[in-house]
Amino acid sequence: MPIRVTVWNEGRHEKKNATVAEIYPNGMHEAIASHLRKAGGLEIRTAVLDDAEHGLSEEVLSNTDVFTWWGHLAHKDVDDRIVDRVHERVLAGAGIVVLHSGHMSKIFRKLMGTTCNLKWREEKNEREILWVTRPGHRIVAGIDDFFILPREEMYGEFFDVPEPQCTFLISSFGGGEVFRSGCTWTRGAGKVVYFRPGHETFPTYHDKNVLRVIENAIRWAAPNEKLPSIAFGNRKLGWMDSK
Ligand code: ZN
Repeated sequence: MPIRVTVWNEGRHEKKNATVAEIYPNGMHEAIASHLRKAGGLEIRTAVLDDAEHGLSEEVLSNTDVFTWWGHLAHKDVDDRIVDRVHERVLAGAGIVVLHSGHMSKIFRKLMGTTCNLKWREEKNEREILWVTRPGHRIVAGIDDFFILPREEMYGEFFDVPEPQCTFLISSFGGGEVFRSGCTWTRGAGKVVYFRPGHETFPTYHDKNVLRVIENAIRWAAPNEKLPSIAFGNRKLGWMDSK
């Protein structure tokens, strides 16, 4: 069975900013989706904020195993009812891979329960080095000791999130700052990944290492078919009754 993926993007920068539109003529979601469509074993759909129900209807949700989420300008425009819907779906076992400025999205903050704030600086030519801190982890399969993005926005600590269950990448930047760029958590039966790179004015989602980490993260976050679903409510006693 293929992993059913919904690549979600706010999709507003691409409409407002000529630089972004030039790098991502079909939107950032399409840059990510076109890589994933070639990857095999994945069934890809895309959705954007301006779609009806943000492209996240009940039907789409029940047919999604893993979401990816990019947002920045318009976090507040995401309907709370739809955030609750995605949250519930993650707790029930879906995965979510939150990208870059998605750290301030309603869904990520709800999943984390903290402010999710951080330090940042945007310069024209700031180099980011991403160091692998969990060699052997499935999310960094095929990634060397480190990889470099020649131009990215700086994100720095303190990043206000609960202590990750796993930190698989740490970034360093030109100003000496460091940042936990790749982190995982579980929430309910669902898996949550945060992956930092992806500032809209740089061609980050055309980088092969970045795309590989996103693809690996989706495969890691997909629900395990063997995982029993979590049941709540009144439970009849079984063998304990018969004693
Ligand atoms: Zn940014």
